[in-house]
Amino acid sequence: MSVKENLQHISSTLTEGVELVAVSKTKPNALIEEAYASGQRHFGENKVQELVDKYEALPKDIQWHLIGHLQTNKVKYISPFVHLIHAVDSRKLTKEIQKRASQNERTIDILVQIRIAKEETKFGLPFDEAEELLKDLRENKYPNVRVVGLMGMATNTDNETQITNEFSALKSFYDTQQELNQNFKTLSMGMSGDYKLAMQCGSTMVRVGSSIFGARNYT
Ligand SMILES: *Cc1c(COP(=O)(O)O)cnc(C)c1O
Repeated sequence: MSVKENLQHISSTLTEGVELVAVSKTKPNALIEEAYASGQRHFGENKVQELVDKYEALPKDIQWHLIGHLQTNKVKYISPFVHLIHAVDSRKLTKEIQKRASQNERTIDILVQIRIAKEETKFGLPFDEAEELLKDLRENKYPNVRVVGLMGMATNTDNETQITNEFSALKSFYDTQQELNQNFKTLSMGMSGDYKLAMQCGSTMVRVGSSIFGARNYT
């Protein structure tokens, strides 16, 4: 199937109000242009250099999402244009985003990444540490950084009960935080393999790559 057909199919399965981020990492600009021609405007990348190269080459009304782990020393390359940073998981990174947003005289929207998977992963904060960072953000310690929600990745498993439990735990935490923060509007959870489960658990944004652009040879 073509990119256009894949997009049409996925769009037809989305719960009303759920935003689709087309994850184009490792894929050539020609395929992104195909998706763009079908009306897709939100794209996600996980590597800064690749994101910057694609931003420079492609139409300027694309909304670019940085979905992967972000190193502090690379924030400056994306801060002039990035639409949403999904994987903020430390004060150090938040502080750097604040500095670069201020230099660019803009506000940068972020999501705090929560570690919900049971597998070993370095990325994302446990709920209690996320609570502390979210409190600092609420108290306006980073005036040019606006936290608009949370992001999480479930364990890579066929066990749907486990995936559902992980997404549901994140949704409960999201609901609690949303009561404290009126800017909260985005719960980014769900990829090609689990976005339907994620939507059942209350996701408002899904990040889908291989089901749109085909399998990747590397990540
Ligand atoms: C690669 C990636 C995705 C998309 O994965 P697919 O399985 O290809 O849909 C989503 N989120 C993050 C953080 C990723 O790195």
